[in-house]
Amino acid sequence: MKEFRSYSALVVGSGCAGLAAAVRLAESGVRAALITEGLTLGTSRNTGSDKQTYYKLSLSGSEPDSPRAMADDLFAGGAVDGDCALSEAALSARAFNDLVTLGVPFPHNAYGEYVGYKTDHDPRARATSAGPLTSRFMTEALEDRLHELPVDVFDGFRVLEILKSGNRAVGVLALELKTGDVSAFRAPDVILATGGPAGIYADSVYPESQTGSTSLAILAGAQLSNLTEWQFGLSSVSPRWNVSGTYFQVLPRLFSRGADGVEREFLADMIKDPGEALGILFLKGYQWPFDSGRVMNGSSAVDVAVYRETVLFGREVFLDYTKNPFTLEAIDPELLPDEARDYLTGAEAFLPTPWERLEKMNAPALEFYEKSGVDLRREPLRIALCVQHHNGGIAVDGRWRTTVRGLYAVGECAGTHGVRRPGGSALNAGQVGALRAAEYISVRGGDPCPDEEFSAIVEKAESAYASLCEKDAPAADADAMIENARRRMSDSAGAIRDPEKMRAALLAAEKDEKTVRAASFKGAEGIAKYSALLDVLVTQRAVLTAMIDYAARSGGSRGSALYTDPDGELREGLEEIFRMSPENEKLRTSVQTVEMRGDRFALWWRPVRKIPPEDGFFENVWRGFRENKNT
Ligand SMILES: Cc1cc2nc3c(=O)[nH]c(=O)nc-3n(C[C@H](O)[C@H](O)[C@H](O)COP(=O)(O)OP(=O)(O)OC[C@H]3O[C@@H](n4cnc5c(N)ncnc54)[C@H](O)[C@@H]3O)c2cc1C
Repeated sequence: MKEFRSYSALVVGSGCAGLAAAVRLAESGVRAALITEGLTLGTSRNTGSDKQTYYKLSLSGSEPDSPRAMADDLFAGGAVDGDCALSEAALSARAFNDLVTLGVPFPHNAYGEYVGYKTDHDPRARATSAGPLTSRFMTEALEDRLHELPVDVFDGFRVLEILKSGNRAVGVLALELKTGDVSAFRAPDVILATGGPAGIYADSVYPESQTGSTSLAILAGAQLSNLTEWQFGLSSVSPRWNVSGTYFQVLPRLFSRGADGVEREFLADMIKDPGEALGILFLKGYQWPFDSGRVMNGSSAVDVAVYRETVLFGREVFLDYTKNPFTLEAIDPELLPDEARDYLTGAEAFLPTPWERLEKMNAPALEFYEKSGVDLRREPLRIALCVQHHNGGIAVDGRWRTTVRGLYAVGECAGTHGVRRPGGSALNAGQVGALRAAEYISVRGGDPCPDEEFSAIVEKAESAYASLCEKDAPAADADAMIENARRRMSDSAGAIRDPEKMRAALLAAEKDEKTVRAASFKGAEGIAKYSALLDVLVTQRAVLTAMIDYAARSGGSRGSALYTDPDGELREGLEEIFRMSPENEKLRTSVQTVEMRGDRFALWWRPVRKIPPEDGFFENVWRGFRENKNT
């Protein structure tokens, strides 16, 4: 009999979502273990932004709000399932209040109102923030709580595979990174909280430590939704940080530099009038994510211009805070559109250079880079058009169950957001998904796989890894292959998606996967690299398959993606790759679904699940709650 550890539930990953899931399970009396590559790794712990946002039901002011109104707004993002939207709305206040109780410093006013502000795609002021590091504070508070509870934590373990019996998850196989031991964990319920599949792209503002493991679910046969939908935006390359808000509103000089050292202010290629160019630079500040609807006449022309320089022309792009754009001695207020002029006047920021304006308007933004070794008073800041968030992911129902029985997905690895989402709704969705899955497991948790059967499943899975190390085949250069695959993806299927380039990238990923599966990998390090490389290639194949199908359906450009369309419109001064047509809004009522079957992917579109009708008769709700918590 193979040795293994046994629990009632497992959580994989220790970002905001995984920690919340483990806490909720333990608080409901479920015997759980949390398995993570690293407690201090992942997006939540290592990222932030100017004002990192948390989206929740309004808890202040006199404007009315309700779970249904909030659900309607989430649902309006397009390709969103209504049951998930309703739960994300209904439980947002509880999830938020629990974080406050755990000590996350969300600010309230003198009377205890959690005053909000408007974020993108937010018709009300539902957003709040604990500052630039909201998600880090959340992980710290949740981890403190976790340590008070009877949860076994396996830190430094990379999960290699979901173990299954038929279509049921029965546990996981994990590699202990320090010792190289491969061991099995048995549980009838497994919650994946592995974060976004950040590792498939080269140009990225995800922290380096986040690569994701969506392929665990893909290879287990789980369905995936909305894989085409991501968020991209302009970010500095080192350190990785969004250059949103004041970083653009202070009107820095934007230039590129080639291998020959020659500098070019390339925005002028697309926008001849300096006043218009300054207006668009200013707008880029608060319209941070790349939005294909703003390319022809709006601020996303800046993102396209940066992409063009870096990807098409192979030049590096910089923000320069030491000089004004277009060799202007000073910014003439008369050149600016009213909005920008009023803002800079109000902030008393008509100062000689961009860095002085930044210091006046947002000194911490300047200090942030100083602490990271970049002095914006002296040196330019390298930027690129980077991936930041996956709106799609593993398909889940209203209890965050995947299509594999006993397997759940919460946090960014779950695909509950559609084409557009309000800023801050990712952090809310992670907390709510964790709560929903844990509550369901606490009432309806499954039975463990019998010892003998589980042992046989483990033996088979382990022997596959043993033969990987023992086989007599050439080794693969995993690091180089990962780097190439990521570059290929950013160049063909990032914010700008040319179907021809995507088809070539898909063929290359398929070829690479064959090479990897035939190669040998030695020792613990080899197994970890094999798993990371396979994850990148399998996930890329799924995402590219989805994107190619979307383009073939003439979905048009939508959200944070521009699809090249030879029959579309072209902004003056741009190359054919940027020819685009508007979004086909009919597709907003459908969810594109992908599933691995054998070695290939099946793909279809299904209608979105509508927001469930009101269920407000108290006595009935109470009875169901007494019986089984309405699970
Ligand atoms: C620059 C930036 C700014 C952002 N700003 C906002 C914002 O303002 N508002 C908002 O709502 N969202 C924002 N987001 C998105 C949000 O931060 C993430 O969606 C969220 O933190 C993801 O949390 P998570 O728990 O799902 O995953 P993560 O925090 O990424 O955690 C994943 C965990 O899984 C572990 N793991 C992965 N694979 C394995 C494996 N095989 N075995 C074991 N462990 C594994 C990782 O090590 C890690 O611990 C931002 C993201 C970025 C990059």
